[in-house]
Amino acid sequence: MKKTIYVTQPYLPPLEEFIPYLKKIWDNKVLTNSGQFHQELELALCNYLGVEHLSLFSNGTIALVTALQTLHISGEVITTPYSFVATTHALYWNNIKPVFVDIDPTTCNLDPGKIEAAITPQTTAILPVHCYGNPCATEYIQEIADIYGLKVIYDAAHAFGVKYKGENLLKHGDLSILSFHATKVFNTFEGGAIICPDLKTKQRIDYLKNFGFADEVTVVAPGINGKMSEFNAALGLLQLKDIETVLSLRREIETQYRNALAGIKGISLLPLQPHTERNSSYFPIFINSNYPVSRDQLYQKMKTVGIYPRRYFYPLISNMPMYRGLPSADKAKLYEANRITNEVLCLPIYPDLSEDEVQRIIQMIVI
Ligand SMILES: *Cc1c(COP(=O)(O)O)cnc(C)c1O
Repeated sequence: MKKTIYVTQPYLPPLEEFIPYLKKIWDNKVLTNSGQFHQELELALCNYLGVEHLSLFSNGTIALVTALQTLHISGEVITTPYSFVATTHALYWNNIKPVFVDIDPTTCNLDPGKIEAAITPQTTAILPVHCYGNPCATEYIQEIADIYGLKVIYDAAHAFGVKYKGENLLKHGDLSILSFHATKVFNTFEGGAIICPDLKTKQRIDYLKNFGFADEVTVVAPGINGKMSEFNAALGLLQLKDIETVLSLRREIETQYRNALAGIKGISLLPLQPHTERNSSYFPIFINSNYPVSRDQLYQKMKTVGIYPRRYFYPLISNMPMYRGLPSADKAKLYEANRITNEVLCLPIYPDLSEDEVQRIIQMIVI
């Protein structure tokens, strides 16, 4: 029996390298609340990502919920239905009405040309996702935001390390959030962060993730507990040492897939976006009616031989029971998202995936 291949497998450095970090935690007995590793990781990530300020979180979802609180977002927020559920759930947890707008099928990101038509007097912000690490139309989105006085918060959970026009993608918008979940390019087992442009905003974020405490006796807002522990921060410091290796291994796998799958009848790939240094966080293929079998038949066939691709993102958030009643969830208005969700299959991609395994996967598809 051949080894089971999942869509992703976390990168882990040798265990021995983690022991000194644990020893330090045991010696100092500081387990959380902005300890030494927490402070070091915030600095190291700012340096690596080339951003001014970053606040660590226990996970990406709480970071997203807190980002909306940080900017006092309310009313309606324009967002994409083609994402992981946490994007829309974060709005729900803030009592904000999600307004879904269709995607551009060449990027799988919010179609910027369709945003303006969805703006109402209640709209306060835009929440786009850099899906699969593909940069959103950041300049176009900012122009719209400036005209209508809207905030922009990017769900950049897929975009760790992506560069656009030579700069880190996370510089765009008012805030960006990252996830360091086990399945992501850079992981701390569980974790996340908010990237912000100035120290005053970082201070507010730091209060909000610690129950609203500004000092021992002053609570300035109804904050939440979103702190990252020293254990997770130490993992982050260790993982960051190998990030360039991880990214280059991922890019090599993407190149193998692209070379083998370009031009296969019934299968399309996303075009490489200009001015973009990719992180190859996902490798989606799109299976249409010209392919000999359906997307789900291919998916099932691969599972029978121990290969587990994933249908990211299916079902569409706008088709889930708690959101499908919204006026903006109407399938007719979300034509591309509803088409793409039925065609997509994300192939396994992770640093330890061998060339033989990649070939095994390709052979299942090229029929
Ligand atoms: C993973 C992910 C999240 C949630 O991050 P967690 O760290 O798992 O809470 C949010 N948005 C997107 C697009 C994601 O892929």
